[in-house]
Amino acid sequence: MNFIPVNEPLLNGNEKNYLNECIDTGWISSEGPFIKKFEENMAKYVGRKYAAAVTNGTAALEMAIVALGIGKNDEVIMPSFTIISCGQAVVKAGAKPVLIDSEYDSFNMKVEDIEEKITLNTKAIMIVHIYGLPVDINPILELAKKYNLKIIEDAAEMHGQTYNSKMCGSFGDISIFSFYPNKHITTGEGGMVLMDDEKLYEKCKSLRNLCFSTDGNKRFIHEELGWNLRMTNIQAALGVAQLERINEFVAKKRWIGNMYQELLSDIKAINLPIKNKSFAENIYWVFAITLKDECKKSAKEIMEELGKKRVGTRPFFYPIHQQPVFNNMGLFIDNYLPNSEKLYEKGFYIPSGLAITEEQIKEVSKILHEVLV
Ligand SMILES: *Cc1c(COP(=O)(O)O)cnc(C)c1O
Repeated sequence: MNFIPVNEPLLNGNEKNYLNECIDTGWISSEGPFIKKFEENMAKYVGRKYAAAVTNGTAALEMAIVALGIGKNDEVIMPSFTIISCGQAVVKAGAKPVLIDSEYDSFNMKVEDIEEKITLNTKAIMIVHIYGLPVDINPILELAKKYNLKIIEDAAEMHGQTYNSKMCGSFGDISIFSFYPNKHITTGEGGMVLMDDEKLYEKCKSLRNLCFSTDGNKRFIHEELGWNLRMTNIQAALGVAQLERINEFVAKKRWIGNMYQELLSDIKAINLPIKNKSFAENIYWVFAITLKDECKKSAKEIMEELGKKRVGTRPFFYPIHQQPVFNNMGLFIDNYLPNSEKLYEKGFYIPSGLAITEEQIKEVSKILHEVLV
């Protein structure tokens, strides 16, 4: 069998039609009609008042932090076990991430550890849903209310997932999505911020477009610094076509996850992902596995063996508190977050892109048995 990649997107709906429309009409910049359509459709799907498309999920996080007025001397509580984007958004704004360890089995931050980290400088909590299950959000919303904190919700891996039947992406003062090709819906590169507050929305639209003056007479006169984070009509055309199929994509992700759960259940050396929490059913953004302690090989060795047998894998996140770039800035030097560290040592994920076939899933399972049993 050919190499089975860890991810391959599915682009066989209206993507080509809408892309042709961009070329035929000449609307290829950020001014085209698909942008508004994609924003409106996403806002409606997630249940938010406003959405603003941007260039990627990382940019969406950076913009969210600045739009919420978080800066020097402010602290933001967040998990260590996440992508660098979350940490760097806070550090680049001049604020300080305060890191929380994660649950070893759900990969999400330990909600019960948050309150003791709240200080007079805490301005926000960043909720990051990791790999397929949402964070337990209600206790965090209560803390935010009690201590008057903002919530940034990173739902980059959670399109279509719900928490107690309410859409992920609907919980933050600002929530963000990514549309990178390994996410449930993709625009190639892309991201979005969503919110219900009109002022925040206006602020984000200004920040994404160089803070151009809205006064036509002062077009090139700027009172503030922003970025150029505008998504193109071409990207949004992809997004509109992809979002049309979100229910089908979510169902396929769960079908892939449930297939693997059955096929791999007899491998004693590994922990399989949690199927359900009281508040959500796993959406399996990725099918994430950890090696049990009795398995004498590291995740790195297993991934190498799988690669030789033509199965693509990815390692888990490297914890924020161990990132050399932050340690070299003097950050997180004495942090000890054992679950986050162990997850990196023991974890990896296997092919589960939307284009995967039943035959490929069975092949991956067969090879995992060869390597691990
Ligand atoms: C993918 C991802 C991002 C970053 O999105 P990009 O579009 O790749 O910049 C941020 N947070 C999480 C949790 C992600 O999985």
